[in-house]
Amino acid sequence: MNFDEFGLSDAILQAIRESGYETPTPIQAQAIPVALMGRDILGCAQTGTGKTASFVLPMIEALSTGRSRARMPRALILEPTRELAAQVAENFEKYGKHLKLTHALLIGGEFMTEQLKTLERGVDVLIATPGRLIDMYERGKIMMSDVKIFVIDESDRMLDMGFIPDVEKIASRLPSLRQTMLFSATMPPEIKRLADQFLMNPKTISVAPPASPAETVEQRKIFCQARDKRTVLRQLMRAEEIVNAIVFCNRKRDIDVLVKSLVTSGFNAAALHGDMAQYLRTETLAKFKSGEIDILIASDVAARGLDIVTVGHVFNFDVPYHPDDYVHRIGRTGRAGRSGKSFTLVTDDDAKSIAGIERLIKRDIPELKLSDVAGGRSAEDAGPTEAAEDERPSRPRRERSARSGERSERGERGKRRSSKTAEAVEAPEAAEAEAAPEPVEAEAAAPVEPPAPPAPAKPARAAKPARAARPSPRREQSDRQDSRDAPARGRQGFRTEHPADIPGPQSFGEDNTPAFLLRPTRKVAASQAS
Ligand code: AMP
Repeated sequence: MNFDEFGLSDAILQAIRESGYETPTPIQAQAIPVALMGRDILGCAQTGTGKTASFVLPMIEALSTGRSRARMPRALILEPTRELAAQVAENFEKYGKHLKLTHALLIGGEFMTEQLKTLERGVDVLIATPGRLIDMYERGKIMMSDVKIFVIDESDRMLDMGFIPDVEKIASRLPSLRQTMLFSATMPPEIKRLADQFLMNPKTISVAPPASPAETVEQRKIFCQARDKRTVLRQLMRAEEIVNAIVFCNRKRDIDVLVKSLVTSGFNAAALHGDMAQYLRTETLAKFKSGEIDILIASDVAARGLDIVTVGHVFNFDVPYHPDDYVHRIGRTGRAGRSGKSFTLVTDDDAKSIAGIERLIKRDIPELKLSDVAGGRSAEDAGPTEAAEDERPSRPRRERSARSGERSERGERGKRRSSKTAEAVEAPEAAEAEAAPEPVEAEAAAPVEPPAPPAPAKPARAAKPARAARPSPRREQSDRQDSRDAPARGRQGFRTEHPADIPGPQSFGEDNTPAFLLRPTRKVAASQAS
């Protein structure tokens, strides 16, 4: 089968050719003809199968006739995360570039005023995360009475993230005469129930997941102590020829610590997590895609579904709690037939999680001994523990390959630029969280990593939180949480003094009043003399 057989317009076929696609993927071959008939679809497919084009292409075809009206979109696509929504918007632009269709991206963390202006002009397609959409709807900024095509993408992720009540609320506000397409990688009972509730006589289409990452990604696990993780990660990174990599952490608060530690050691790294303002997430991702940043330290949610074809390495700084997340994580590399490598750091506490992963992927992940890492030593030999390493003041950048060295410099310049922007931009809404909260990112469930030795003997003064453009309440909360949990360290990890160690203020009293305070001022002396 090829794309010409679907009966799509020339403008769309040309865009497909320009995208370099030769033949439809299995989900496209099955879904596009059904969608073009206007029938509801229940699609069981995950990212990487080409499912986005399977609903965007017929949607563009259907919308190419007719006109949009102000604040009344004709199609609505719901995505669980801002990044996925942005990715779908990119697809929409790519496939619709020879047509005059318009779209709006309605995601939390972006300026609402800009989004409102776009809506006022009239858009054909609204691509939204549920929280922001409900917010706009309840403020009376959008009318959904003209929506004829409704897509619920990544439904199982919506479920994981607690968005199903929002999805139900949105669906109940749409006209009942519409086409609905629901996609999900898995079909748990809650998603089946959602499908029964909102789809009418759907065609069920199920495709095999894309080639399992197990086949294209060289996976290794490394056993180490929790306190040595950062040392081991650096050791691995130095031993590998890294062009770019994503490092996954289970907890958001560990991400910033790790970024700081890697940057101090000369790596060109940046954070990507759900507490960052959206414009920073977008900027960081763009820099990573362009090669300005080599290493992304990410949370599962922020990096989910990212379509970056050329990620060479994935490091699991923490073993994910859900085996599915392991597959998603390592699936960021080894894409589009390329090979990739993944390394997972495993501590004694991770026995259960790693066993669950190996059960899911139906194979043992081969172990890599640290002593076998090129130029490596075992963690025990590695000298100072990471606590000690982190207390060292900033060291000069390490020697790296000419190419990555050059990139690091660019990255540094970029970083300086971006930090300026961060300070300059007033972000009343950039910091605004989604109306429905961003997912928990395993914070709550995360077991606490043993603190780096030596443990602080006394409660310490909290480290000063990093300066940020008007932090959101959630950000403040996590900062507070971080400062409670942080061992007694100030800048550069140096131990700070406990308030009790600092002499308190003394009252002067009669005996302590310094002599200069008892000397009469000139004015007083003059009045006494006269
Ligand atoms: P998706 O599953 O929609 O996230 O798509 C995964 C990747 O497959 C994206 O990078 C698409 O550009 C690409 N893709 C989609 N359809 C095709 C196709 N027919 N041929 C080749 N690549 C495709």
